[in-house]
Amino acid sequence: MQRVFVLFPVALGAYEYLTDLPVQVGQFVSAPFGKKKALGVVWPQKSTEDYPEEKLKKIISVLPEPPLPEQTIHFVNWVAGYTLAPLGAVLKMALNAEMGKVSKKPLVFMPPNPDHTQIDFSPAQLKAVKAMQALKNFKVALLDGVTGSGKTEVYFEEMAHVLAQKKQVLVLLPEIILTTAWLKRFESRFGVTPALWHSALTPKQRRDTWEAVRNGSAQVLVGARSALFLPFLNLGLIVVDEEHDPSFKQEEGVLYQARDMAIVRAKLADCPIVLASATPSLETYTHAREGRYLHLKLPERYLGAQLPETRIVDMRKKEKGPVLFISKELKEALSDRLSRHEQSLLFLNRRGYAPLMLCRACGNRLQCPYCSAWLVEHKGSHNLQCHHCGYTMPTPKECPQCHEKDSLVACGPGVERIAEEVATLFPEARIAQITSDTLTHPQDFLALMQQIEQGDLDILIGTQVLAKGHHFPNLTLVGVIDADMGLAGGDLRAGERTFQLLQQVMGRAGRESKKGLALLQSYNPENLIINALSQNDRTAFLTEEMTTRKLLNMPPYGRLASIIVSGRNQLATWQTIQMLAKKAPLQKGIELLGPVVAPISKLRGKFRYRLLVKAPKEARLQNYLHFWLDGIKIPASVDMRIDIDPYSFF
Ligand SMILES: [Zn+2]
Ligand SMILES: [Zn+2]
Repeated sequence: MQRVFVLFPVALGAYEYLTDLPVQVGQFVSAPFGKKKALGVVWPQKSTEDYPEEKLKKIISVLPEPPLPEQTIHFVNWVAGYTLAPLGAVLKMALNAEMGKVSKKPLVFMPPNPDHTQIDFSPAQLKAVKAMQALKNFKVALLDGVTGSGKTEVYFEEMAHVLAQKKQVLVLLPEIILTTAWLKRFESRFGVTPALWHSALTPKQRRDTWEAVRNGSAQVLVGARSALFLPFLNLGLIVVDEEHDPSFKQEEGVLYQARDMAIVRAKLADCPIVLASATPSLETYTHAREGRYLHLKLPERYLGAQLPETRIVDMRKKEKGPVLFISKELKEALSDRLSRHEQSLLFLNRRGYAPLMLCRACGNRLQCPYCSAWLVEHKGSHNLQCHHCGYTMPTPKECPQCHEKDSLVACGPGVERIAEEVATLFPEARIAQITSDTLTHPQDFLALMQQIEQGDLDILIGTQVLAKGHHFPNLTLVGVIDADMGLAGGDLRAGERTFQLLQQVMGRAGRESKKGLALLQSYNPENLIINALSQNDRTAFLTEEMTTRKLLNMPPYGRLASIIVSGRNQLATWQTIQMLAKKAPLQKGIELLGPVVAPISKLRGKFRYRLLVKAPKEARLQNYLHFWLDGIKIPASVDMRIDIDPYSFF
């Protein structure tokens, strides 16, 4: 009889078992777990022999499947150690839900053909291609180029190079629903579609794709952040496109930043990793500038397309008239485009009609019953919605507080309200609203793209789903309704995110021979970020932001971890965070900020507080947190989460 550890895909650690079966690390086994039996993985963990043998349960059977690859096991261990998440919770991300079942007719993934098409590269592209092909082992490369500079073609070429060596490629993209355009380009370059990994796959598709990655028959896998945990057999390259995108940070379950973990994964595979962006994150940019990453620049727009001319519209100079949210200058630009049969895009990162409903009679503001947040009016679906918890209620005819009839007024604009205003200004224009409310399926997106390309639409009004790299040749005007939105609040990355998002949106204008125009409506035209945007001066913004972060020892010059407690009992929750703060050990260089109330102090019925731990870059933050928090008892009604490298706190 030997003692082995088995890890189950649940939020716990590994448990010790006895077996006389021949087992090896990584093998799938069935073992008693609580009152049931469950599927687990034999885990490399040394026995301390201190648990009495007669109390150990026996493994029931060993599954015939090949073991989980060693690199995947190392990766699971690494991510759990870094994020302080339970080992089994990380393992769960590396398995498919139907382990042990096999398909009678599995999906077949056709091998991509590296020589399917040949491309004429610009000198800058060629230089980047050559520099990448020279990489043999682990190295991070930042592929840094403005929208339309041809980054995708460059990393496709590196993918072809790696495929020719019979190795696998993983491509991480921010939002899979937006990848239809990307997939078309892939198909025309490689002649086939790649294997996909995203939340909309059926259990069978997941199972077959998982197996195809494990046995190497899926050579290129394209997916959202969780694709990182697939059991690659022979990984030769990772590409993280739009590396700055906030959706790479997982904010539920295991809290991790997929871009950062992708770098760890590439290191384990000893292969290169390409981070591509037109607006790199400050972290990545700093590493590249200081020489730790290879910095590959694509300065020009491919085929000589020009960057749009950009102007700030000072919204403090109020204009008279019924028009509320669209300035005279933007209105004229829109009218000009309509007469020339060119397309325009109006950007406002807020779904719905109005962000706040206010009673004219008593001043009551309609709030979510479960969150400390306003209810957003959605005229399209005739209801009020909480954008934080999903609560909806029919739009009331009277104020719920004072019962005055027709007293509720909508305050501020959302996309629906802008669309209404545009329809009043230009009754003949063909308008489309584009938000996550209107695009629920990849098919919707494809249909919309076609409508835009065929010129069936004049004015697009939408949220950030429109910001990503789509190519609209006839779109020559971008109007940002509220450039200041997103700058408010104390979030560390608020400025960075606003800059990245708006620069991407503005890049939608004038991508081919026609010169574009971008108008930024602002009540704060002196703001540094608004100015840097208007002058297309990324360096000015990055330099300023880096200086500030350095001064404050904030990431990437220092490290952060946040401890969030939440619970339905406000007092117990508050007392818990205060108790935690009191027990924090003193350590040179480590600072405790807070506790503070969360900006949305109540979310889904739970009160929330945060402690922020700030540490020098070289500090062993995880060790410190273990030393502090291990063994502390938290009331059962209170939930505690640790977020290493937190991104947003709302
Ligand atoms: Zn009222
Ligand atoms: Zn809510």
